[in-house]
Amino acid sequence: MNDDARYIRDNVMAHNEWFDECIPMIASENLMSPLAKEVLISDFADRYAEGMPGKRYYQGNIYVDKVELKAMELAEDLFKAQFVDVRPISGTVANMAVLFAFAEPGDTITTCALAQGAHISTQKFGAFGQRGVHSVNYPFNVESMNLDVDGTIKLLKDVKPKVAQFGLSVFLFPPPLRELQDTFDEIGCLVWYDAAHVLGLIAGGQFQDPLREGVNIMSSSTHKTFPGPNHGMLLGNNLTDDQEKALRKAVFPGVTSSHHLHAMAALAITMAEMKVFAKEYAAQACKNSRALGQALYELGVPVLCPDLGFTRSHAIAVDVSEFGGGKDVAQRMEDANMICNKNMLPWDESAVKPSGLRFGSQEMTRIGMKESDMKEVASFIARICKGDDTKKVKSDVLEFRKGFKSVKYCFNDNEPAYGYRKLVP
Ligand SMILES: *Cc1c(COP(=O)(O)O)cnc(C)c1O
Repeated sequence: MNDDARYIRDNVMAHNEWFDECIPMIASENLMSPLAKEVLISDFADRYAEGMPGKRYYQGNIYVDKVELKAMELAEDLFKAQFVDVRPISGTVANMAVLFAFAEPGDTITTCALAQGAHISTQKFGAFGQRGVHSVNYPFNVESMNLDVDGTIKLLKDVKPKVAQFGLSVFLFPPPLRELQDTFDEIGCLVWYDAAHVLGLIAGGQFQDPLREGVNIMSSSTHKTFPGPNHGMLLGNNLTDDQEKALRKAVFPGVTSSHHLHAMAALAITMAEMKVFAKEYAAQACKNSRALGQALYELGVPVLCPDLGFTRSHAIAVDVSEFGGGKDVAQRMEDANMICNKNMLPWDESAVKPSGLRFGSQEMTRIGMKESDMKEVASFIARICKGDDTKKVKSDVLEFRKGFKSVKYCFNDNEPAYGYRKLVP
């Protein structure tokens, strides 16, 4: 090993060790299982496969095809989907495939605004804008952190989009799809749901089930509440043959070439595990987010939507403007080994200096935390908000964190959570 390699490796190892001592609270991250990690570093990582199983452009895909067909079968089963594509290499790439398949430059798609919690891929400067698609935003009710139903019906009737898109990155409550169904039917639009944040909750039956609520096409990341590899996926129901073909073509050769076969295999393993564990895991993640919200609220940290139980998902949003704002508090939390991100709240103008923080319970759940642990975590957060010495909080966090060293809700759940094998001592 030379100095460059040693430097890189040392820093990766240092990161692993650091995260093993941190409380992970970023709502879009998770931990893979030991089995998923094993296949992630297999020879699949070094190979190419283009096209669909059985119809590849490369030789050498005998076992890749078996795994990909199994992945598709597991996804059909887990999400009760008629159409599955496990090739998009991320949630954004899955979104790009939907755009390539169903929107021309100049088309209009209805979606949420960034400050309401939308993902950048749906915005003017993200994938939507770069496809030349105009986005028009639904009216949003700040009190309920959800769409205004009457306003949304009116907007859909006025705009008559070819595609109506739903799904958020600050995703506290399910959008009222059932109430909008008649309007979708009336204007004849495709209904697209971006499940990046809530896929694991959907798998566990703990959030709305979009494909049962009139959604035609669901795009997703597979590494947020769904505890798989950094990858993406497309799921669909009631699509015509032409629409399915358009999606396949958009995925390859539209927005992927090879599709990260190692990640596809790790996704397949995660789905096999989620078939067994999703319900229990997702239910605990939802209980934990509400418990965290309640405990923070009782400690005087303003959590959004107290009257609605704070959240129906893994995520909560807090307003920390009185404690220095999102940027400042997130930094002080990091100094105390609590990892979270600053976030815009609906009334914020600036994404760089927002007043909020977003917390997710899913990774804490994954390492075994329960409601009583959420009370401890809330007390650490409240101390940071109120200006307690970060060093003092950090030493308490380190002590607390010793109780959570393995990944739960998977096979081999006694392996080190943030483990790695050292090639050279
Ligand atoms: C995270 C996210 C994405 C993008 O996912 P990547 O896998 O990071 O590309 C897309 N949509 C929403 C709503 C997200 O939160």
